[in-house]
Amino acid sequence: MHALRYDAYGATPSLLELPDPECPDDGVLVEVRATGVCRSDWHAWQGHDPVPLPQVPGHEFAGVVVAVGDRVARHRVGARVTAPFVCGCGRCSFCAAGDAQVCPDQSQPGFTMPGSFAELVAVPAADLNVVVLPDDLDFVSAAALGCRFATSYRALTAHGRVGPGDWVAVHGCGGAGLSAVMIAVALGARVVAVDVSPAALRLARELGAEVVVEGGPDAASQVVAATDGGAHVSLDAVGTTETAVGSVSCLRPRGRHVQVGLLLGEHATPPLPMGLVVARELAIHGSHGMSARDYPPMLDLVASGALQPRRLVGSVISLDRAAEALAAMGRPAVAAGLTVIEMGRADRTSYE
Ligand SMILES: [Zn+2]
Ligand SMILES: [Zn+2]
Repeated sequence: MHALRYDAYGATPSLLELPDPECPDDGVLVEVRATGVCRSDWHAWQGHDPVPLPQVPGHEFAGVVVAVGDRVARHRVGARVTAPFVCGCGRCSFCAAGDAQVCPDQSQPGFTMPGSFAELVAVPAADLNVVVLPDDLDFVSAAALGCRFATSYRALTAHGRVGPGDWVAVHGCGGAGLSAVMIAVALGARVVAVDVSPAALRLARELGAEVVVEGGPDAASQVVAATDGGAHVSLDAVGTTETAVGSVSCLRPRGRHVQVGLLLGEHATPPLPMGLVVARELAIHGSHGMSARDYPPMLDLVASGALQPRRLVGSVISLDRAAEALAAMGRPAVAAGLTVIEMGRADRTSYE
């Protein structure tokens, strides 16, 4: 199969002919049709998040099942599928409870095993991890659901328990934040979007944000003023000390903060205002992807047209431009949208 592989951290990845992956006994082999390019792939390539080398990146994909292991009951060759970026082991108590996203023995394509910048990718524990796609959902849109979109969906539903009329503050309008704006609006919430970039705030407005606030030390008080006493739910979709503290501080009593952005390096332990957490009985959640179990209600909203993941796709490219797209993740590209690699594209690129 053709695949993009890097042999050392930071080394230029190359498109190679590699042996096809083996189909796991409990898994399936998926012929990749589309796969998103994510900043986490860039972090792994740069060595910020150690991975086995050499490595094939890619963790948000959709495709067609071409082989099924002997111990798989629920899946068939020919099915159109996707899988969460965190695959559960299928054996532990967390997986049994449907919470594969926190499985202690999880595997992640592109990080712990070869990923989807390839013609074929193996998915372990397929009965637990593989999601069958609705017939009318195209592969590019399905690939766009895999990572930031599903994470934001779970943050707002399972953790935020967002309902119609709730005020939702979204701190940071990059990929995860803009997904959150779209999802919160679809859930009937009123959205306040916070970002330092006017271009990002413009996109948030286009996706239905009712109020936009310039990021900075005053952001929390502006959110409180705009929401008549604070947001019911607030997401930090960036992962910095300032945005995490701002997100907790902008909540009304009994409000719920959900941390979506990874807090890395100097931001790893933000000084959250725990006095406020006690006085206002706030809840603090972390959100780490979403297991296959939770996909169906999200896919229903996509099928109904309430969620349009395709609107978050900036460009669709062919596999031979994957290395270039991965390198581009290292440069700040405000509101450029998700880049999706579509397999078998004849043309070299197109911007949609
Ligand atoms: Zn990702
Ligand atoms: Zn498990």
